[in-house]
Amino acid sequence: MTKRALITGITGQDGSYLAELLLSKGYKVFGLRRRTSVPILENIEHLMNDIEFIDGDLLDMGSLINAVRISNPDEVYNLAAQSFVATSWIQPVATGQATGIGVTNMLEAVRLTKPDARFYQASSSEMFGKVVETPQKETTPFYPRSPYGVAKVYGHWITVNYRESYDMYACSGILFNHESPRRGIEFVTRKVTDAVARIKLGLQNELRLGNLDAKRDWGFAGDYVKAMWLMLQQDKADDFVISTGETHTIEELVEIAFSHVGLNWRDYVVVDQKFVRPAEVELLLGDCSKAKEELGWELEVGFEQLVKMMVDSDLAKLKSK
Ligand code: NDP
Ligand code: GDP
Repeated sequence: MTKRALITGITGQDGSYLAELLLSKGYKVFGLRRRTSVPILENIEHLMNDIEFIDGDLLDMGSLINAVRISNPDEVYNLAAQSFVATSWIQPVATGQATGIGVTNMLEAVRLTKPDARFYQASSSEMFGKVVETPQKETTPFYPRSPYGVAKVYGHWITVNYRESYDMYACSGILFNHESPRRGIEFVTRKVTDAVARIKLGLQNELRLGNLDAKRDWGFAGDYVKAMWLMLQQDKADDFVISTGETHTIEELVEIAFSHVGLNWRDYVVVDQKFVRPAEVELLLGDCSKAKEELGWELEVGFEQLVKMMVDSDLAKLKSK
């Protein structure tokens, strides 16, 4: 029997890679899409004929119930969120609604309509925030440092609560930062690789950044969506950290990206206080041994390879314009 999956956040980075993965496994894929004045389809344009779209919004539970009814899913992947940390200080309430309460809306829609569907929640390493131990693992206490992190902690615990209250198969993947050529342009990796490509092509002459000392555990989104799928194929629902186990500073990221095109980052990068955050997450480093042992998950793309892939992709995109 063909398996059926409903993905929220289908237009985003992870939604597009997950859709590709599930389609390659023979799933019938449904994507929840919200109405926008101009369609945001860059990441999924190549899949338009393969995915069935359902209109809806995480803030409108009726639309979610409708989406679950139409898709009748075996698996639900809740990837939709206001996902950019910096914006969460400017729109803390909207972030709380989509990234926090939106999870309850989706869980309720599943509980009321298709309670035996398996549910994946996109939890985040931002929940560890001002980290209380290093490396961070499933048992590390949360200490979020942004309205986004706070909302994700709520989303995480409500998922655990539905698992324990209703015996639903509901999992949270605590994913560390993952990037790709499809990453939103405002995130630091893509902001850097796009700027490097523009500078190389003479379209831009400087790159303004905030804190260059923060450290992140960055992996490739294509590897991380495989972990999401694996989490929903187990005998019993559980939560898993997904990470590379390596951490790098923003400065190292910048170094690799500029030197890949033969430039010295010091000639172009300007530190601008505008991009420094009210409260920073200084260090993230994940321990994913549980996922490796229990899910058999492995990552394929390393940090340097990832940065170079993103620079090359941005160069190709700009040249084709
Ligand atoms: P993106 O920002 O690329 O995608 C977010 C998606 O959510 C978009 O499809 C967006 O739709 C949709 N969305 C936002 N608000 C709503 C809403 N109210 N109703 C319906 N859809 C909505 O995120 P990623 O793909 O990078 O991340 C996927 C998930 O994983 C997110 O929940 C994110 O917080 C989480 N996460 C991501 C990490 C990462 O490093 N990428 C790390 C850990 C967790 P639209 O196109 O209409 O804006
Ligand atoms: P996050 O980990 O989800 O917040 O992902 P981001 O890519 O937005 O930010 C990662 C780190 O890069 C954070 O510590 C930011 O403070 C730092 N950073 C430094 N300069 C910038 C910048 O110009 N934009 C962004 N987005 N982050 C920056």
